Order: sequence, then structure tokens, then C-alpha cells
Amino acid sequence: MIVLGFDIGGTKSAVILAEEINGEILFHDRVEIKTTVNWESVIDELIDIGKKMLNQINVHYDNFKIGISCGGPLDSDKGVIISPPNLPGWENVPIADYIYKRLGVRPKLQNDADACALAEWKYGIGRGYKNIIFLTFGTGLGAGLILNGQLYKGANNMAGEVGHIRLKDEGPLGYGKRGSFEGFCSGGGIAQIAKKKAYDLDKNGLKASFLKDNIENITAKDVAEAAEMDSKDALDVFKISGKYFGRGLAILIDILNPELIIVGSIYVRSGKFLNDTMYRELEREALKFSRSIVQIVPAQLGEQIGDYGAVVAALS
Ligand code: BGC
Repeated sequence: MIVLGFDIGGTKSAVILAEEINGEILFHDRVEIKTTVNWESVIDELIDIGKKMLNQINVHYDNFKIGISCGGPLDSDKGVIISPPNLPGWENVPIADYIYKRLGVRPKLQNDADACALAEWKYGIGRGYKNIIFLTFGTGLGAGLILNGQLYKGANNMAGEVGHIRLKDEGPLGYGKRGSFEGFCSGGGIAQIAKKKAYDLDKNGLKASFLKDNIENITAKDVAEAAEMDSKDALDVFKISGKYFGRGLAILIDILNPELIIVGSIYVRSGKFLNDTMYRELEREALKFSRSIVQIVPAQLGEQIGDYGAVVAALS
């Protein structure tokens, strides 16, 4: 089956053309564009790229599937993106109808965390497990829940919006809420923790070792690069994020009792800087009976997980 996948993210989006044969994905092509605030122009561009890809391999217009993976909150049944914190301006976007009108095939929309959970379950490290939590830990923080061998969506497709759980009264901001799980455990959150650290040091006439120019320009990538060079300031930032990561994980483990927690993006690259405080907090907070059987692992599909997610969204 030929699948056209759209992976829509906060900073960039990708079009993927893939062929699935016997449960194996053979990738043909992938094109990335920058995601702007105007959803129509982004989707138009993605559709044009998709059309060109389909034409190149002469796919007949009713002989392919379309999958869309996108940050929520969204309604996957209605195919509407509702109010994604990391795509400002994309309010109530009827993406499935819009693409259907242009391509003649009704796409399947999935929350990005759900799509990644399905991808790791079908093609990655989650194969063979029945109770998995996938956490994005990227631009935002969302969870995809595989429970009792099924994707769990909840009463109106909102299950897994764990990023907006408040873990502390004060702290980095995520989706208008200070101290949220996403505030502590996302790229933007890590940047905020780092900025605070840089300002605190600056007050004492000191310069944070991850600071390149202006404090306001600090990114999570700067912090990760400095941590790779053993910067204590950068490692301190990851320690804070890791501690609240552990606290959030303990809550999820106590509620859902999973066997496996798979974490994407920043955890894949920088988990080694988070693990210390994460495990300490986890051991302190989680119920030992459920803690003892769960493993926390980085996503196996690595940088390709978004591609697999968009493809699996179509096949789900
Ligand atoms: C959104 C989730 C999404 C996550 C990762 C969160 O802010 O609410 O729906 O899965 O970001 O993109």
C-alpha cells in the first residue's frame, strides 16, 4: 500500500511517501518545509509536494492512503486540529476535509504522540508489548497510550494530554500554565530553565557557559551542546528538567501501570543528562510495585519517528 504522510510540527513539517509491504516500510521520499502561522499556505504547500511525489511514481488517485500526524489538542474522529499550543493560529483547522477536497482521499488524522506510540509499537522497540506510554519530549510534551493492546483515545479523543498537568506551582511555562509537565520537559521548557539560570548568574556578574550571545536567544540545543562539553551550568539545567520528568513519570506509572515507557526527541539525544535526577525522583515518588516492572527507554525509530508516525496514522 502506498501511503502519503504529513508530519506537521511546531517548527517544521514533512511530506513522506512510503510503501508498506508485509509490515515493512520502504521509504521513497521526504520533503521538509518550515511551518508558518498561516495554516492554509502550509497545507497547500504540503499538498503540492505530495502531488508531485505521487505523480513521480504514477500512483492512481484512489489507490493510496493519507495519514497526518500533528500536535493536539485535536479530534481525530472529526479530522479537526482544535488548539495546538505549538502551532499558534491553527485554531479549529478542518484539515481532513481540506485535504480530501484537494486530493480525493480522506486522510486519517492522529495526535503526534498517538502516531509515534503506534509507530514504536508496530515498527520499533514497543513490538510485542501490551501496555506502553510514548512521550514526545520535543517541541511539546504529549503522551500516546497503548493500553491492553489498544490505542486509548478517551471519551472525545483527548486522552494523553499529559503535558498540561501541573507539577509545581511555579516554573517554566507550557500552554499558559507555569510549572507544567510540558513546561519542564520540552525544548521550550529547557530553554526557559536555562534563561532563568543565565539571568541568575548574570545578577552575580557571571556568565552561563551555554550562553552564546543574548540570554533571550538561548535554545535547548545550545544547552545540549554545552552539556556534551561537560558544562556544569548546562548539566544543572538538565538536572532540573530530569527531576520533574521523574515526577511526571511517577504519576503516569501509578495511574496506568505500563510495562514500557518510550521517550522521543530530546530524550533520545540527551537522556544521559536527564537520567540521574529522573530516576532519583521516580524511585522516590512512584509506587514500588508498578515501578519495578516498568522500563524507560529512548525511542528506537530515532529521527525517523515522525515519518513512521505519519505513515502509521494512515494505516491505523
Ligand atoms: C499538545 C499535545 C502534543 C504535544 C507534542 C502538547 O502541547 O497538547 O497534543 O501531543 O504537545 O506535540
